Order: sequence, then structure tokens, then C-alpha cells
Amino acid sequence: MTFMFDGRAATFDPIAPASAALADFLRAYPRLFVLTGAGISTASGIPDYRDLDGGWKRRPPVTYQAFVADGVTRARYWARSLIGWRRFGSARPNAAHAALARLENEGRIEALVTQNVDGLHQAAGSSAVIDLHGRLDEVRCLQCERRIPREAFQRELEARNPAWRELDALAAPDGDADLDGMDFTSFDVPACAVCGGMLKPDVVFFGENVPRERVEKAYAHLAVADAMLVVGSSLMVYSGFRFAREAARAGKPIAAINRGRTRADDLFALKVEGDCAEVLQVTCQAAA
Ligand SMILES: [Zn+2]
Repeated sequence: MTFMFDGRAATFDPIAPASAALADFLRAYPRLFVLTGAGISTASGIPDYRDLDGGWKRRPPVTYQAFVADGVTRARYWARSLIGWRRFGSARPNAAHAALARLENEGRIEALVTQNVDGLHQAAGSSAVIDLHGRLDEVRCLQCERRIPREAFQRELEARNPAWRELDALAAPDGDADLDGMDFTSFDVPACAVCGGMLKPDVVFFGENVPRERVEKAYAHLAVADAMLVVGSSLMVYSGFRFAREAARAGKPIAAINRGRTRADDLFALKVEGDCAEVLQVTCQAAA
């Protein structure tokens, strides 16, 4: 809202006080360990799985166990992924990703650990990124470890399943799409062209552990950071929550930007309830 007085406009922005506090936090703690989640990518058109209370907004995603054990589950996953990938693969970074890339450029970021699998931090120019849950733009053979680009795999899926190319559906956070009531038994999923092994997106599924060396690398960065900044994550998943717990244990203050409840609310020194991009932009201007 804007008030006019003395011929000048004064703008009163409700997020300004919170962003000023966050800017103070950035000045006080010059090397940040940043953890981002789905909330930072929603403005790029990738929807969040969780509601404001941290509960599921939709059916929980496929588990690793179901994916490797059942051919129909795999067919359903890839059929939905064939549809979802088009939107997911063309998503572009938003102002929140750009703000974090700028903070890294200014030397303020020790490491940026993301729970997202969309690659949007790198697309925005961040390089100190640890993709905690992997990247959806690669497909991996579970037998020979060969990796192929998701884009090439997409072309093969479409060539083998021409009827499915015409379908469109709601995109989900992991590039999946909702296709309730479809018959997936006729969907043709290719095996590894080299060894015939099972192909899986190179992301950590629910029920699967984050590779140990990836976790250790993140902990090592956290150990030398001054503070932790959480952006757009409810921290409901342990793989992200453990870093907040470790920061708290090590006496490092934690600030968070998130809409709604998180699992670590009682660990935060500062919490800003607001839009990630809006808050980060105002904060970065104030902290510059
Ligand atoms: Zn193979």
C-alpha cells in the first residue's frame, strides 16, 4: 500500500521488517550453509507436495521398494513421467534461485544443499550446489551404473509409446503426473541398452537412502559455515531435517524462509513466513 505526503510516495511493505531482520542475520553470519526445498521452485511451476501443515497434498510419491519390485509400478511411474517431464524439463529458475546465485557470487555461501531434483540452482548460476536427492535429468542403470540423459530417454519412451505422447496431466514435484484410472500394463519401458538392467531416474526415492558420501560432504560444509539458512522447505523429510538438527547441536543459528509449519520451527533463531523470491530479493537489497 502507498501513502502520499509532501508530494512523495512512501511504501509500507509488510515483508520489509522481516527482510530487514534477515538482512541483519546475513551481515552477522557471512558464510551460510543454505538448504532449499520444494517451496523455492513452486514459482517456477513445479508444485509442492506438502501443504501448510506439512502434510501430503496428494498421494505420496512412489517408493524405491515398489519401483524395483513391481513392473506395473515402474510402467506407471514412467508413463506419468513421460507426461510430467515436458513441463518439468522446461521449467526455468525464478528470482529466488537468482538471489541465492547472487549471494554465492558475493562469497556469502559456503554450500547450497538442495532437496530439489530440478537443477534450477545450477541453471540460475549457482555452483556450490549439492543435489542431496540427485537430479531428474539423468537416468541410471541399477546394474551397470551407466547414466543416460533424461532427454534422450524421453525420446525413446515417446517412440515406444506414441499413444501416451498426446496425454497431458497435472505436473507433480518429481516430474511425475497424475493419470488416475489409466491402464499401464501396455506401457513399454526400455531396459538398459548395454546390459539389460533396470533403469531408474537418478534421484533418491522415498524409502531410499541419500548416498553416504553426499551427506558427509554436506556435513563438512556445515561444520565450517557460520549459520544455516533454510529456504522453502518444511524439513519433514529426515534427509534435510538432520542438517537443521546438526546446526542446532553445533550452536549455529538457523534462519528460515517458509510458508507454513516446519519440523524444525523450535530450532530457528529467525523465521520469515513469506514468498521465497519476494523475501530473498528484499533481503539481498537490504544486505548489500
Ligand atoms: Zn546397464
